[in-house]
Amino acid sequence: MPGPGRRTNARPRATGTANNPSATSSAQADSLIADIDNADGWDRVVNVLCDYFDLPDIATRSGLKKVHANFDNIYRRLDKAYNGNTSNVRLKGGIVGIYARMCVDAILRNKLFQRGFLAQLFPLLDEPSCRHLALRALTTVTHHGGIEIRMEISKWYRDLLRVLKEFSDDPKTIELSIITLSHCIVAALSEDGIKADPKLGESLDLKDVAGTVTDALHKPFPSRVLVDHSVPLIAVSTLNSQAPPSAVKFLVAGLRSKDWIFRCTCLGGLFLLHREEAESDQRLLDPTKMMMAMSRPAPPHLNAILSSYGFQQCESYLTMKTANDFQTAMMDCIRTRDLYSLGILLAEFILRTEFSISEGYYETDNPGTGRRENMDLGLPFTMWSDALPHCARAIRANGVPAEADMADVVEMKFLIMKQRIPDAVKIANVALKRNPDFAYAYYVLTLASDPVAGLRAAKKGIKCTNITPFVRFQMMQRAVDQAGEMGIHILQDSASEGDKKWEEGIAFLTSALEDSKTYIAHAPPDNRHMKNVLYWNILLRVAIEEDISPDVRELQGSIRKLKIADDFSNWIGVSPPKTQLRLTQQTVVRLFPEASEEWGEFVAKSSRSDVASSSPEKAVDDLAAWLGDAHLEGEDDDHGHSHKSATFNSANLELYRCSWCRNPSAALRKCAGCSKTRYCDAACQKSDWKGHKKACTANKGGS
Ligand SMILES: [Zn+2]
Ligand SMILES: [Zn+2]
Ligand SMILES: [Zn+2]
Repeated sequence: MPGPGRRTNARPRATGTANNPSATSSAQADSLIADIDNADGWDRVVNVLCDYFDLPDIATRSGLKKVHANFDNIYRRLDKAYNGNTSNVRLKGGIVGIYARMCVDAILRNKLFQRGFLAQLFPLLDEPSCRHLALRALTTVTHHGGIEIRMEISKWYRDLLRVLKEFSDDPKTIELSIITLSHCIVAALSEDGIKADPKLGESLDLKDVAGTVTDALHKPFPSRVLVDHSVPLIAVSTLNSQAPPSAVKFLVAGLRSKDWIFRCTCLGGLFLLHREEAESDQRLLDPTKMMMAMSRPAPPHLNAILSSYGFQQCESYLTMKTANDFQTAMMDCIRTRDLYSLGILLAEFILRTEFSISEGYYETDNPGTGRRENMDLGLPFTMWSDALPHCARAIRANGVPAEADMADVVEMKFLIMKQRIPDAVKIANVALKRNPDFAYAYYVLTLASDPVAGLRAAKKGIKCTNITPFVRFQMMQRAVDQAGEMGIHILQDSASEGDKKWEEGIAFLTSALEDSKTYIAHAPPDNRHMKNVLYWNILLRVAIEEDISPDVRELQGSIRKLKIADDFSNWIGVSPPKTQLRLTQQTVVRLFPEASEEWGEFVAKSSRSDVASSSPEKAVDDLAAWLGDAHLEGEDDDHGHSHKSATFNSANLELYRCSWCRNPSAALRKCAGCSKTRYCDAACQKSDWKGHKKACTANKGGS
């Protein structure tokens, strides 16, 4: 390939200048202009300039080092030429090309930026002969530049949008502008970008960005590189904005892409869509209000559903019954004063339903004052919840080893009610050493703030053999929530963290989807977490499952169940909060048919292998191609995002799942026997051994 990096001796050199850097005579300058005017293509222009200014070979690391050593001198001469020849755009373009190439080196890049490189570059966007060159310089600089450079260039985004709109019939202009916009705006809106300069992110008119980019994608089918850069750009542009409908539909349709990076980026983008307007999830209810509502009969259609599930297993029945049982137990305690027996009863209530221990106290009419007052019965507590630690102590004092779990259940419940989660977690960890099959202790661990540990505990807890339905479903909905949230978070980051990340993200989402299905099939229909699990279920089925028709008929069962879950909420007097998850789910279901209509073909086509990797270069863009290839030998590619597309291989997901509890994690330990199956830890491996033993020996022999 011809280019400034490979000078040929066949062409005439600008004689007399090569060894005389101080030459500034007008005759020499005239000969430079003539050489530039005669040069055939940008690579020749740059060659002429490199010779004239006696620059080292800037395509090599050693050449850039020489530039470094003599930077001020070189820059002064180039700058003088740029400013002295205001009408010669070829000369200016050549100089900007040289600067862009120097930008591969971080120190030179910073020096050039400080000296106003962008102010020299951007005017060239309006010069027809220089536009591609200037845009290519921007893609190169943003490709190699770190986040500061990308953020700096994102301040010029309006110029890029203007060019995109003005030259919307030139595929190369579209491609290069969108690549640059993508590099810069994604950086400005990244976590680090927002931390470094929150005002910059807020100043961007994302509605304009998303709208302009989607308009450009409606043109004849673009190149691979354009699709790869558009998807993350549209996905971040939905943040903080009233995203244009076409852009939202693009993200919804993208959920069905065969390319998993495309798919996952869209899912991440859809989650940002409703972030600002969403209400917080008020799943913490006032139990007294809830019980008053439950004492009214359920509407007939809900009653039929409760009946077919079995009234006595339903949440509402268990809540009411347990409230009564608890009252009775507390009253009996006045007579028996037996805290041990009370404790054993409370432990059973706690494992039965969520609102098992209500706040109450013994009260009586004081005939002297005529008021109801606390009654002193000589018990060691006044508030009923304060009975719990005394009951735990009484159970332990009784000394039956088989009852140790019950004492812990009662004490941990007390600590949870007092919001002392870390103290409850301490007890749970000690208890699990004693009894690894202690489901409620795992449940307590799911309440801790570390989501990774929480998910792991939930997955292990679900596998416990000695477990009540309440504790099991409680952990299952935690597992759906936590795996779902972590999966989305990993996918939102995966663009900037490379290849492996998205597979890990899918493993989390797959785990969430599996648990959501079990939960929906088996949990009580009036369980208050049902809605949330259905939101995840519907979203993840669209994003993960293979066959979803444009009319989403496969989802109708889940959609119907969600309607019922909403009716249950309304029955107990709590209208479903408009959470981020709920709104996202609604957007996806509502727009899916239209999205398939508008973008279905585009999405299908984008993952085909016969798509051109980039739009064709014209002959005049030969330097642009040279810039596009710019990288130094041995240089780490700090581009920061993957341009590879990814097809789905479900076998890979197994690398991220524990073979026993199915916990998704990137930090599993391989079985030492076969080095194939993976586990959270020795406990999971031990539990799985009975089932795995055979396969392990077989695998070992086979490999
Ligand atoms: Zn890129
Ligand atoms: Zn495990
Ligand atoms: Zn093994």
